Amino acid sequence: MTQAYGFDTLQIHAGARPDPATGARQVPIYQTTAYVFRNADHAAALFNLQEVGYIYSRLTNPTVSVLEERIANLEDGRAAVCASSGHAAQFLAFFTLMGPGRNIVASTRLYGGTVTQFSQTIRRFGWSAKFVDFDDLAALEAAIDGDTRAVFCESIANPGGYITDLPAVAAVADRHGVPLVVDNTSATPWLCRPIEHGATLVVHSTTKYLTGNGTVTGGVVIDSGRFDWSASVKFPSLSAPEPAYHGLKFHETFGALAFTFHGIAIGLRDLGMTMNPQAAHYTLLGIETLSLRMQRHVENAEKVARWLEADPRVEYVTYAGLASSPWNHRVAKICPRGAGALFTFAVKGGYDACVKLVDSLNLFSHVANLGDTRSLIIHSASTTHRQLTPEQQKAAGAAPNVVRVSIGIEDAADIIADLDQALAKATA
Ligand SMILES: *Cc1c(COP(=O)(O)O)cnc(C)c1O
Repeated sequence: MTQAYGFDTLQIHAGARPDPATGARQVPIYQTTAYVFRNADHAAALFNLQEVGYIYSRLTNPTVSVLEERIANLEDGRAAVCASSGHAAQFLAFFTLMGPGRNIVASTRLYGGTVTQFSQTIRRFGWSAKFVDFDDLAALEAAIDGDTRAVFCESIANPGGYITDLPAVAAVADRHGVPLVVDNTSATPWLCRPIEHGATLVVHSTTKYLTGNGTVTGGVVIDSGRFDWSASVKFPSLSAPEPAYHGLKFHETFGALAFTFHGIAIGLRDLGMTMNPQAAHYTLLGIETLSLRMQRHVENAEKVARWLEADPRVEYVTYAGLASSPWNHRVAKICPRGAGALFTFAVKGGYDACVKLVDSLNLFSHVANLGDTRSLIIHSASTTHRQLTPEQQKAAGAAPNVVRVSIGIEDAADIIADLDQALAKATA
């Protein structure tokens, strides 16, 4: 399917066609582990990557492939590879880019789980991360060294609603010949398309808005297809003979599809963090209404944020859609349809009032999730950001007196009424 179609059409049709075997209109769930080879030559061609087809569902599956093509279209990317979760997608992306001794230069404003993944777990692979304030472009520039293999940030950052100046960050990454990897989970391609702003790769937790209903975990890496992996010797997995695939040179052989093919042929083959076809099915159902849901998420978030900001029990609201936000001026450039539906607010009364608030809400669910149709809340300091130091908590926008909300698509008046009664109890 081509870019000639608009977003609303692509979110329903891209990657899909009536099932060639049965005419089934909805994408079938190909619940199979393996695929019968036509003959021995066909099998050999598939294993040599000379012919694209299906071998084994740890690598590729027709249901998952439709989702990959659909998301690649929505993000205006060249191709995509799905994974079992957002965190798995991040790992899959870095697996191809990194090596022992290499580092990621990452924004301080990230999902708490990503901060932990980057500051602790990746070290076991000999990788490391340096955290920098991405509003300080000189500091970003200074942090990139000869071992840097990726610059990483979120478009609209979780949990604070901070908006990254993607074109400015992309320009710095470009100058150093390093790919910019953008986590676009909280924005979704309906609000922001990082590739248009210079990103090389986009990652998502499809667990969130893309699925939209809190049913399955999943992730995806979308490649812009624009990075020249052979311009330097920094990315030997793609530019040099790959020992894990009998010396195949991925970039030379597959061009703009090199990253995706490597992610499947080596990444999924050997790490095995594959998305299953059931999960792809739920996400395909969700994605059909992405633009409609996001529009309502944003409308409601704007109403709720304005109401909270005017309330004397609230100290401040971090929603970038508010004129008071220091990042409000970036909305028009980075996410003109709105600043998303995820933000934090500080409650007068600090940590204890936040805990009371969370326990007093009826409509909101207290969960470690976001991007559901339902309104969700979490007190980050006592949950998702608990593992972080107080400095990291503050830098990530998760101070003890702050709660994070993911505004759902219920009636805005009901969401506000629930917050109103719970704030009364929390600050009594
Ligand atoms: C949830 C989330 C992740 C991790 O995704 P999982 O699907 O939970 O593994 C990464 N980044 C952001 C911004 C997220 O919200």
